[in-house]
Amino acid sequence: MTSKCYRSEYVGLLGNPVDENPTVIIMEAGFNELGLNFRYNTMKVTSENLGSAIKALQVLNYKGSHITIPHKQKVIQHLDIISTEAELIGAVNTIYFRDGKVYGENTDGKGFLYSLIDNNIDIKNKNILILGAGGAARAISVELALVGVHKISIVNVHENYGIELVNLLNNKININAEYIPWKGKVNIPEETDIIIQATNVGLFPDTNFPNINYNSLKSHMIVCDIIPNPPITDFIKFSQARKCKTFNGLDMLVKQSCISFEIWTGFKAPEKIMRDAILKEFSNEYYNNLKV
Ligand code: NDP
Repeated sequence: MTSKCYRSEYVGLLGNPVDENPTVIIMEAGFNELGLNFRYNTMKVTSENLGSAIKALQVLNYKGSHITIPHKQKVIQHLDIISTEAELIGAVNTIYFRDGKVYGENTDGKGFLYSLIDNNIDIKNKNILILGAGGAARAISVELALVGVHKISIVNVHENYGIELVNLLNNKININAEYIPWKGKVNIPEETDIIIQATNVGLFPDTNFPNINYNSLKSHMIVCDIIPNPPITDFIKFSQARKCKTFNGLDMLVKQSCISFEIWTGFKAPEKIMRDAILKEFSNEYYNNLKV
């Protein structure tokens, strides 16, 4: 006789494409460290099958799942309850099953916010400038607006998306938000305290960098690039050359994973172990690419 449990608890990721998403490395490092019998499955699901996939996870007793492109908005119709923040953002990236119900949360902005707080960056009453108005920019700007920054400036190439986000921030959260058109090299206003690069520009394998006037960066500005891969983008390098304090997207990625780890397992996530695991994974990747 044995009282050992041979059944694993399951969580995972639903998206398409997902082949190159490395979240499994972060999550399983955390499970292993705490000796939890949890498995993280990276699953490719098309939009038309999203609803049945969520039902399938529920009947298979999954604890929850991450949701990634292209499902972050469409997933909402398949959920019973979503958080206030996710509702404002209009997107969900983490679901969990509890008491027969499906819950949705958005950890994109929280991951970013917590990485600043952990590094003792004071965000209250600060002037924030965000490059981009996509899903990540929406999530970050909503969370920053909710904790009370002074002003949020959204710089985006497609004016309609930029203005839509500014209207959301002004009208639904009552924060001082403005749209700055992105035509040619953007000048960063002198009064900016924190710049957040939330476009796809520079995401591996793209080697471009955002089209801004780097001479307008001043040393009092804190510069964050949320791109996790490569951890040090050219945008970060150019900002460091202008003597700005910088943050990269790895912290945000790891923080987000920690939030979902805690929702699903009920245990505090071993953040350092999880961070080291993804750093090691990325450095191996670079090494292999250099060899090609
Ligand atoms: P979206 O597709 O929703 O948004 C992309 C944004 O990038 C849009 O605002 C788009 O502008 C802008 N953009 C694309 N190309 C250019 C260009 N050449 N010049 C200027 N702007 C451009 O993507 P997400 O918001 O989901 O993701 C954005 C980035 O954030 C990705 O690199 C992703 O890896 C990263 N991310 C990082 C996370 C982390 O944990 N570190 C979590 C989530 C995302 P327009 O509207 O004008 O087309």
